[in-house]
Amino acid sequence: MNPVEIIRKKRGGRTLTRQEMEFLVGGYVKGEIPDYQMSAFLMAVYFSGMEFEETATFTDIMLHSGVVVDLRAIPGVKVDKHSTGGVGDKVSLILAPMVAVCGVPVPMISGRGLGHTGGTLDKLESIPGFRTDLSLQEYKKAIAEIGVAMIGQTREIAPADRKMYALRDVTGTVECVPLIVGSIMSKKLAEGMDALVLDVKTGRGAFMQSEERAIELAKTLIAIGERFGKRIVGFLTDMNQPLGYAVGNWLEVAECIECLRGKNVADLMELTYALGGTMLMLGGKTKTIEEGIENCTQAVRSGKALEKFLQLAKRQGGDVSFVENPEKYPPSSHSREIKCSTTGNIGSLDALEVGFVNIMLGGGRTALQDAIDPKAGIVLRKKVGDAVREGDTLAVVYTNKKDVLDDASRRLERAFAVGNKPSTAPPLIKKMIDKDGVHPWLG
Ligand code: URA
Repeated sequence: MNPVEIIRKKRGGRTLTRQEMEFLVGGYVKGEIPDYQMSAFLMAVYFSGMEFEETATFTDIMLHSGVVVDLRAIPGVKVDKHSTGGVGDKVSLILAPMVAVCGVPVPMISGRGLGHTGGTLDKLESIPGFRTDLSLQEYKKAIAEIGVAMIGQTREIAPADRKMYALRDVTGTVECVPLIVGSIMSKKLAEGMDALVLDVKTGRGAFMQSEERAIELAKTLIAIGERFGKRIVGFLTDMNQPLGYAVGNWLEVAECIECLRGKNVADLMELTYALGGTMLMLGGKTKTIEEGIENCTQAVRSGKALEKFLQLAKRQGGDVSFVENPEKYPPSSHSREIKCSTTGNIGSLDALEVGFVNIMLGGGRTALQDAIDPKAGIVLRKKVGDAVREGDTLAVVYTNKKDVLDDASRRLERAFAVGNKPSTAPPLIKKMIDKDGVHPWLG
């Protein structure tokens, strides 16, 4: 087979055969197809798309480029969650232990933060000693013994995606539905889950900014899941402003600990409970999502979800004294309060800009190999809909880099739009999507 012919065929909008995709993807993993040809292929897919069957075959090839973990020996329906990524999205840290406590095993393989969005692995690793690089053996054992494991993509899981995602990231080919579907589903199918809850973000801080494109992505992910015999329920959620109040790795862990201790950070917990309730329903523990939400609420109120988080952190090598006493965590060397210069109402708070300010402060990365400062970040004091007076604190920034304080503070202040009209936060959960279509979410 000739790679150039396959690239030309896709560029011309024609459907590729399994053999052609196997040749290209398999050859790329083995190092026989160079980056420049794979880049051309990815760009051809970006512009020409893929048929549904073609996307399913592509996903299957990506999935079988590595190990497919078999969790069938562990009783119960294993359910995971995937978020398309956002700013301040720390849901997984509360969700995974909460759902595990309710009796649904959670096999969770997460990613790192890249660009303006954060990543679960970086948040977990801000807990001193926490290991996200468990072997697949340790991963399986943890799920069997404590009902939950939170790890990163190992070398064995979907190596084609590992290599292709890194290339997509630097060739402008990330925002493409069949490529995203192949990438996400190959990893999720490989980790051994039986069902999945999806959190598809839209808005300023999401990489699918338009609602229409986000729904198209969710529908395709759900249909591909069905094709592989997995049930998937998706939620379309707002990412115009950050989720919760903390942005930055340790700051987000600290906010999660507060929530696990019973603090109600309204938007963060509303989403966590909706996703958790759905996981319990998919896991067969409850008949309805509402009943699942009730069980999840009890798991947090009783303190059992916090206990499970401590058990998980300990099992994965984390120093739980920091989880028990977050105030013990050494603070960053510099902090500054951002003051409001007028009186009015917060009309909007730009999640994308907050994400970029977090990177400036040292809390995020622009390239995969960049080091992260776990203490850096932002704690918001005001969010959309809040009334403010001149001189009120809008947010506090934390960093070890003194030289960025002035610029970061200016940018963060500008991320808040203060108007003189009353404002309300947009609904956080916009729609629920399943194999039957798009439904309103009534909470
Ligand atoms: N997350 C993934 O894992 N893959 C993509 O392609 C996009 C987001």
